[in-house]
Amino acid sequence: MTQPHRVQCDCGTVALEMSGVPKVQGFCHCEDCRALLDVPFHSVTAWDADQVQVVTGGEDTVEYKHPTLQMTRVFCKHCGETVYNTNAMGWRLVSQLLIRKCNDNSLPEPLQSSGHFYYDRRIIDIDDALPKD
Ligand SMILES: [Zn+2]
Ligand SMILES: [Zn+2]
Repeated sequence: MTQPHRVQCDCGTVALEMSGVPKVQGFCHCEDCRALLDVPFHSVTAWDADQVQVVTGGEDTVEYKHPTLQMTRVFCKHCGETVYNTNAMGWRLVSQLLIRKCNDNSLPEPLQSSGHFYYDRRIIDIDDALPKD
């Protein structure tokens, strides 16, 4: 059993722990991620719901259900930082950027991207060596 990965929001009220290994880690280029988060692609680690626990500040989180997508954003009500989001499969998606920010600006090796997903739906081209599908 590896050590859980821990992140917290900008103001420090809400902390999460992710345990085990993610289901997927990579860059998602789908339109749903763009619509939910207003980003060109989502830099993500995906986990089963029971792998991601809010360890502090649970009562200070707000879960916002997107009006048309089967997705939610869970954010800190004090600083507004999204600590994870969910998708239609019920996975919990934690941003690689948040993990990086909380780990001295480096991403633990097991959480580094293995590829690009839904690359055919992209709005920007990526020139790197990772597989694209
Ligand atoms: Zn906060
Ligand atoms: Zn996506």
